[in-house]
Amino acid sequence: MFDSHKNYVIADLHSHSTASDGVLSPKAMFERAQEKGIEIYALTDHDCVDGYLSLQELAKQEQSPKLISGIEWSTLHKGMNIHIVGLNFDATHPSVTQAIKKLQNTKNSFFMYLYIN
Ligand SMILES: [Zn+2]
Repeated sequence: MFDSHKNYVIADLHSHSTASDGVLSPKAMFERAQEKGIEIYALTDHDCVDGYLSLQELAKQEQSPKLISGIEWSTLHKGMNIHIVGLNFDATHPSVTQAIKKLQNTKNSFFMYLYIN
């Protein structure tokens, strides 16, 4: 769907699905992006790439938006909760999957701490 003859691109580079705190499934989000004429699409769920990975086959269709990887990474800086959006990386690289697993374990420990205390 990407038209390289234009001097602009219609992109949605920040969206959330039910893989994190969104309302629509990854598939429904991607289909909606296609319906809206989005040319480049990134699903940036919180601290996971599961939704992005689930779209690989769907994104191979000829009229589909160009799908790029995305994540919204949760972190703390000086006691403040900071979210960092990452785009267009290798979502299956071992360093990425290990970092996500470590973050999810940390979040689980944090929520367990809140629950117990
Ligand atoms: Zn967000």
